[in-house]
Amino acid sequence: MNECVFCKIAKGEIPAGAGKLYEDDNFIAFLDIKPNNPGHALVVPKNHYENIYNVPDEVLKNIAPIVKKMTVAVKNGVNADGINIIMNNDGAAGQIVPHAHFHIIPRFADDGLRHWIGKPYPNKEASTKVAEKIKNSF
Ligand code: 5GP
Ligand code: ZN
Repeated sequence: MNECVFCKIAKGEIPAGAGKLYEDDNFIAFLDIKPNNPGHALVVPKNHYENIYNVPDEVLKNIAPIVKKMTVAVKNGVNADGINIIMNNDGAAGQIVPHAHFHIIPRFADDGLRHWIGKPYPNKEASTKVAEKIKNSF
């Protein structure tokens, strides 16, 4: 995992620099280098897990309060009107850095960013079928 950019940031091998917002033994938060809006932050476990599928429950349990803390700090810090919390998992979902992380994206009423367009199910049967498949996959 020597090439992982977030491992390098976590180990201090490359700087989060002025972008470092929070750090403890297990987690680090820093500004995204290419923010959707100023204040866009990333919360990252220091251990390398590729994405949500590999992150131990214990780590998720411990990262949740930090995500919340960072959300409040970002909202207040940049006076945001709202916050999106996003985690991309796999390339198809837009994951570029294969080291699990949460995006905390400040939103402003007039920022011009658009949400994905919803695609309604054609009928009730279609949604029931999908729901059944998911319920059978736990
Ligand atoms: P992903 O698409 O994998 O969920 O998001 C990765 C994010 O990491 C991107 O928004 C990208 O701008 C950010 N990023 C990639 N490399 C670096 C880096 O070296 N430093 C910082 N601060 N952010 C990075
Ligand atoms: Zn890593």
